[in-house]
Amino acid sequence: MSDCIFCKIVAGQLPSNKVYEDEDILAFHDIHPVAPVHFLLIPKRHVESLAHCDDEHAPLLGKMLALAPKLAKEQGLDSGFRTMINTGRGGGQEVFHLHVHVFGGGSHLPRL
Ligand code: AMP
Ligand code: ZN
Repeated sequence: MSDCIFCKIVAGQLPSNKVYEDEDILAFHDIHPVAPVHFLLIPKRHVESLAHCDDEHAPLLGKMLALAPKLAKEQGLDSGFRTMINTGRGGGQEVFHLHVHVFGGGSHLPRL
């Protein structure tokens, strides 16, 4: 996926402000935060979106979601946080490499 910006971040060809990394997952701060803390969890392997996932991806998806509270706590989000996965153009996805937004902090988030 040579033109995928998140693959380029994984490959070290684009910079990121890293939060966490293991063999499967990378987490880094969003370049346009919508809250005082806002980071993204991505699989290192290119997966276009949640709509491109099936049972085979369940362990990876589980690992990503299970990491969210751990990393949120490390980032100081003690009173809670919001997770969001935009999927497809209709779901507001702009970068077509699966990512979980984790954000919070400050006073309060708007109601959905
Ligand atoms: P989405 O609309 O869910 O596809 O969100 C894509 C997110 O990626 C947006 O919140 C962007 O601010 C963020 N983003 C785009 N490019 C970068 C980058 N180079 N480093 C960090 N975050 C980025
Ligand atoms: Zn990619």
